[in-house]
Amino acid sequence: MEVTRRDLFKFTGLAAAGVVGASALAGCAPKTAAETATLADTGSADAGLPAFLQAPEPITDFADTREYDVVVVGAGESGLSAAHSAVAAGAKVACVQNIGTAQTTGNMGASVDTTKTDEAGIQACVAFLMEKNAYRSNRKLLEAWARNSYEAVTWWADTAAEGGAESKPYDSEREYNGYTYYLHANTYNHLEGAHNDAALAVCDAVAAEGVEFFFNSPAVQLYKEGERVAGVICETEEGNVLFKAAKGVILASGDCSGNQEMRDYYCPDLRGFKTMSPFRDGMGMMAGIWAGAQMTPVNHSKMVHGGGALTRLELPFLNLDIHGERFMNEVLSFAYLNNLMREYLEEYDFQNPMAAKFFTIMPANWVEIGEQWAAAHPNEVKFGVGNMKIPSEDQFVKGETFAELAANINAYMEVEEWHIDPIDEQTIVASIEAYNELCATGADGQFGKRADYLVPIEQGPFFAVPRGANSVPAVLGGLTVNENQQCLGAEGAPIEGLFAVGNASGQFYGGVDYPMDVEGLSIGRAITSGYVTGRYVAAL
Ligand SMILES: Cc1cc2nc3c(=O)[nH]c(=O)nc-3n(C[C@H](O)[C@H](O)[C@H](O)COP(=O)(O)OP(=O)(O)OC[C@H]3O[C@@H](n4cnc5c(N)ncnc54)[C@H](O)[C@@H]3O)c2cc1C
Repeated sequence: MEVTRRDLFKFTGLAAAGVVGASALAGCAPKTAAETATLADTGSADAGLPAFLQAPEPITDFADTREYDVVVVGAGESGLSAAHSAVAAGAKVACVQNIGTAQTTGNMGASVDTTKTDEAGIQACVAFLMEKNAYRSNRKLLEAWARNSYEAVTWWADTAAEGGAESKPYDSEREYNGYTYYLHANTYNHLEGAHNDAALAVCDAVAAEGVEFFFNSPAVQLYKEGERVAGVICETEEGNVLFKAAKGVILASGDCSGNQEMRDYYCPDLRGFKTMSPFRDGMGMMAGIWAGAQMTPVNHSKMVHGGGALTRLELPFLNLDIHGERFMNEVLSFAYLNNLMREYLEEYDFQNPMAAKFFTIMPANWVEIGEQWAAAHPNEVKFGVGNMKIPSEDQFVKGETFAELAANINAYMEVEEWHIDPIDEQTIVASIEAYNELCATGADGQFGKRADYLVPIEQGPFFAVPRGANSVPAVLGGLTVNENQQCLGAEGAPIEGLFAVGNASGQFYGGVDYPMDVEGLSIGRAITSGYVTGRYVAAL
């Protein structure tokens, strides 16, 4: 890993050379089956528990000890926001980061514009998210986001802009239960590093405010005094360093999408989908669990995205799978598509994420038809998400005839190295012709799609849009917290001194999948929960 300008913020004595990452962490918890077996042989492993749930021996020998009011674990959106608001409230703050730079991902972060939205609108937004999260969210956490997000996200955007990372706003008006609420998001896809460019600028600003950053210093355990969490132990080049926290430790270490073992355990239906962020290794949450915190006790919501604008073209023409057959009612948000693709991943023994791909077959006049549909059913038909660009026809597979389209689909898969068996071209042609006949009947006797959408693929040239998200940006479980983001122990009592924010904290979501209906919710929530919690802990 390259040593970046962020290393300038490192304290002397914690010099960086290379990354203290996964290999260094291997000593903290038994990881492999062999190690687990050895533990079992000696009788010290808890039978049936996965390795990451087994607490290691507490580290008691420290190369150095440093004293702070607040220690933040992780320099992503939630951590930088927590560090800022804690230092702004007068606390002495350290932020420890596992890799050599501040790091996050994404495009947009959303807020409820409370300068325009009235009380009923705020509650309607919360009610909408409760529904989208299958009524398994902690409602108070959703409400905290709705009330505080505008202030937090505006602070983030202003700070990033001062550092040269200017956002583009994305504003929209929504309605639920007859009430209107207004969403405001900052987007960064126009910058080379997208939201991470903003994070780097915010990191500079927060360091200038007085937060002390320690890079290449992964938190590997929490330090307890009695029942109270009183600090964080980090692995550094110098050895284990104890960062004591007089007021509290804030875990802002993100989710566990980069940790295969945790992912398989908490979200087994993600098997076969691609990992996007190895730096989200779940280590911070593990340390929390070993200190008595509880992981969200229900199955974790998955976020399966990737594939850019093509995957987000939600126009319900005809979808054909990797066998050239129609397989679904095409009216479905891309966020939920992954649930239909699992059986295809299984065909390839969960070894080829491209098996989760499919093609949307469209006629030449797709824009005109799509716009008519979108006017009638704006929640079902989308050309993209937020202010993401609509894909151009250059990105589609094209054919003057169905047969040519079929041949070009196979050629495309080969050029793009999908490593998927060629599709029988006659099957593709037959599927399109059968679909056109179905449309002529005016009723979808195959998958029950709304009759409005039964428009035949008639006008050439014809297009096939390669779609299907197959990557995992996040696993949304996290540690259970109360409305102050304070971690809860086994009996539900708050753990003194321990807080979790952003994706390291749970019970904000709850559905099978992350809802894409409030675009940028995940980043907006990370910034907001950090912002509010840093201030809260500093005031303790
Ligand atoms: C490609 C991509 C695009 C996305 N686009 C969007 C989008 O447009 N809108 C949206 O809302 N969401 C988006 N998401 C999801 C979004 O990025 C995350 O939900 C959000 O960044 C979470 O913020 P966080 O602060 O909780 O965690 P993170 O941003 O993951 O930050 C956690 C930080 O903690 C560090 N860390 C981890 N473990 C340790 C440890 N043991 N010790 C010290 N440091 C540690 C990590 O390196 C990281 O820097 C996207 C995700 C991906 C992968």
